[in-house]
Amino acid sequence: MSATVDADVLIAGGGLAAQRCCEALRRGGFDGRIVVLCDEPRAPYDRPALSKAVLMGERDVSTLAYREPRWYEEHEIELLLGAAARELDATAHVVELEDGSRLRYGQLLTATGSRPRPLPLFGESERVHELRTAADAQALRDRLANGSGELAVIGAGLIGLEVASAARALGLAVTVIEAAPTPLARALPPALGLWIAGLHREHGVDVRLATAVESVEHGSRDIHIKLSDGSYVTAETVLLAVGTVPATEWLKSSGLGPGAIGVDAGGRTQLPDVYAAGDAACYPGPHPEQRIPTQHWEAAARQGATVARSLLGQEPLPPPPSMFWSDQHGRRIQLVGHSPDGCHVELDGDPAASDFIAWLTHTELPPAAMLVNRPDALPQARARIAASLPN
Ligand code: FAD
Repeated sequence: MSATVDADVLIAGGGLAAQRCCEALRRGGFDGRIVVLCDEPRAPYDRPALSKAVLMGERDVSTLAYREPRWYEEHEIELLLGAAARELDATAHVVELEDGSRLRYGQLLTATGSRPRPLPLFGESERVHELRTAADAQALRDRLANGSGELAVIGAGLIGLEVASAARALGLAVTVIEAAPTPLARALPPALGLWIAGLHREHGVDVRLATAVESVEHGSRDIHIKLSDGSYVTAETVLLAVGTVPATEWLKSSGLGPGAIGVDAGGRTQLPDVYAAGDAACYPGPHPEQRIPTQHWEAAARQGATVARSLLGQEPLPPPPSMFWSDQHGRRIQLVGHSPDGCHVELDGDPAASDFIAWLTHTELPPAAMLVNRPDALPQARARIAASLPN
């Protein structure tokens, strides 16, 4: 590698994919200079607890770091905290930071994750929250901690539903407002989305489906939300959780952003020496027809390690079927594979007891499975789905 670069491997974004890439590079014997740009003021940390144990007061955000500061020193990984990438000049192999400084790289991994999709209708207010970072979770925790008042959650996706579950357990009155006819409509067939809505209703969540927010009025103590069915919801606190967008605006002038960055199986973008992984990237799936941005923990971790393999000159490993999990009202929900549109749902177990596997089958597409409180069946579900994928 050239001695004139500031980093042999520069990683923009200090999250899960970045962490896994660093670990795999050092494990694989890479001894070049690694620099990680972290726009947050903290070392890489694990996000799933933010919408679960942190909100419940069971974990402090200070416990979420993947590694102790000593680990980065011992492995000679330089974390630049509070350093945001602003622009990429791929021809010059330079990343410019928000403070105007410039770093030259040999190889670049863009792993800047995603951020909540904005909903400008709600304006700026200390009562209106979103949830992506440790700071967001801390602010929301501070508002929900006394367990009283009302919370309105806009969006019945994974994060909205997990926050609804945590807030109910804390004692708040919770309303979930979703424009689609069922929760998690992009990930699950309607029957399973409705099962999830039922679970929330059993736990006292007011779930409003097929209902959009029409207008918002900020009162002196509450926010009044008018819905498309003519009804109103009043809440002291609002969480906006209507999905995420890849945090790739900074790559716009390079031709890569905005939007998810398409890569090959080894994480290579269309630009020389530039790779992408995690929520910001879109990898080819195990089935040739599936090229879906995953935006889940397991994919981000795997893709970080995949880029390390490419940088070490190794071939990528075949990807397993995708998987995500979610914890809601004490249930562990896991989805393996991509639920095919128009699939047939076959139940094994007892949905009323929250103990079942739903097999999602299709005549032309690979199957998927949703597991509820069946973590031990995950390997078997994975194996069955993997066996149905093309080699
Ligand atoms: P991240 O881990 O988000 O890291 C990206 C980092 O890049 C961030 O620190 C970001 O601030 C930084 N960044 C952004 N722009 C720039 C820039 N221009 N310059 C420098 N840095 C920048 N998945 C599951 O499968 N199950 C779960 O239960 C689950 N729960 C979740 C709960 C919450 C609250 C959240 C937010 C996510 C959850 N996920 C879950 C998803 C999972 O955490 C993400 O898929 C994973 O963190 C993505 O990793 P990443 O490295 O792509 O991005």
